[in-house]
Amino acid sequence: MSVANGRALLAIPGPTNIPDRVLQAMMRPAEELNDPGMIALTDGLLGDLKRVFRTKGQTFIYAANGHGGWEAALTNVLSRGDKVLVLASGRFAIGWGEMARFMGVDVEVMTGSWRASVDPAAVAERLRRDTGHAIKAVLVVQIDTASGVANDIPAIRKAIDAAGHPALFMVDGVASVACMPFEMDDWGIDVAMSAAQKGLMTPPGLAFVAANDKAMRVHQSADLKTLYWDWTSRLGEMHYLKHCGTPPEHLLFALRAALDMIFEEGLEAIWHRHALLAGATHAAVSRWAEGGALSFNVVEPAQRAVSVTPVLTHGVEASAITDYVQAVCGVTLGAAIGDLTGKGFRIAHMGHVNAPMVLGTLGALEMALQALDVSHGAGGVAAAIAHLGQNASPVRAV
Ligand SMILES: *Cc1c(COP(=O)(O)O)cnc(C)c1O
Repeated sequence: MSVANGRALLAIPGPTNIPDRVLQAMMRPAEELNDPGMIALTDGLLGDLKRVFRTKGQTFIYAANGHGGWEAALTNVLSRGDKVLVLASGRFAIGWGEMARFMGVDVEVMTGSWRASVDPAAVAERLRRDTGHAIKAVLVVQIDTASGVANDIPAIRKAIDAAGHPALFMVDGVASVACMPFEMDDWGIDVAMSAAQKGLMTPPGLAFVAANDKAMRVHQSADLKTLYWDWTSRLGEMHYLKHCGTPPEHLLFALRAALDMIFEEGLEAIWHRHALLAGATHAAVSRWAEGGALSFNVVEPAQRAVSVTPVLTHGVEASAITDYVQAVCGVTLGAAIGDLTGKGFRIAHMGHVNAPMVLGTLGALEMALQALDVSHGAGGVAAAIAHLGQNASPVRAV
């Protein structure tokens, strides 16, 4: 009945598959907090996170999940009563805004669509109307993990500049850093944040924030600061200040191994791998969609994320498909969340994934479509293979 036994595949958009090398890096005793090795580990990671965010600014590591990273970013640059503009394109920017509202920040949400990227022209138009510069920060996610929308971050920066607006530009890269290009300094991002358990292939429990000089200046007078998140305190000389207490040592060991793997492969190569695997997934879904029971959530191909593909179901329970691939094939797909709850499922192709993992996930899905008699265009997996066969050939005999 079931062909599930074997290595289980996690095809959810976080936490993602953790490489064996990263898991093994944690199999060691704890260290004294101020051991020279621990100090060097922290310093090395803070420096290497600058290479990941592509910034000369300051980086911070928190024992927290992504929500903690959101709070860290907000408390360090905002004051009570400040207004922020949230650019929604799904669930996650709204979630970031909800954290700000809880702290007493005046939050305005630019509603947008669950099926398309934030419109930079609408951002420019809204900011032009803010003649008194009441808006202190613009919050956006690069990839919204619920909708599968990828936003054009440089275009939004240009829109802020076109409006001549001084608001801080704050970007959530949780589902995009180490999946697609993220250029904090070149794109004029003032505050960036991410977390361990998505593209960065590390167990959940670490959040990362990066701040440029402009953000550090605003930080000086921000009155929402609290000691745990406080950048100034974390820039202190003492090692324990950098973690505001005991470092999350084993997660740091894991992150060290993950960053080593990332730099060995190369960020550009990683972005390319994600684009290829997303292309294969999109090729399969396009073919299946011909049957009418499945469709992409994101309408425009160019606005689809490279790390996760939400698929809508029509006339068939999404849970029947996800339950089948789980029980029969040992593949865990993501449930649709937010406005899409119950309306589809999400295929993640994020982090530590290669062609056989994605083809295996797509193969299990195609098996489910056949077994459950879901109307679908034939040859989705063949289309995915063809996409990779045509595009993934870095090594050529000469
Ligand atoms: C997963 C995710 C978060 C939240 O991270 P948690 O670790 O679950 O708190 C925030 N933003 C985006 C874009 C995400 O994908």
